[in-house]
Amino acid sequence: MKCPDCGSDDTRTMDSRRRDGGTYRRKVCRACDFRFSTRELHVEEVKLLRNPPPPPEPEIVEAEPEAPEPKAFLILRTIRGILDQWKGD
Ligand SMILES: [Zn+2]
Repeated sequence: MKCPDCGSDDTRTMDSRRRDGGTYRRKVCRACDFRFSTRELHVEEVKLLRNPPPPPEPEIVEAEPEAPEPKAFLILRTIRGILDQWKGD
């Protein structure tokens, strides 16, 4: 592992711990004493990062057939139509 600060290969792992499905390492550069941390990912996770899965296909939802007008409403409208005709004349 190269030091991100000076590029030296002479780095030392101070501490490593597993967390969130990865391995975290605290490292220190022996050349410049720069401290940094790394996270090792599992192979599956790396694959996932390199080839993210395609977005899900949009779901095709079939339009529901329009609900037929309720009969009671139709009858009421017919009666109202007759009443309006009476009133009108
Ligand atoms: Zn360094």
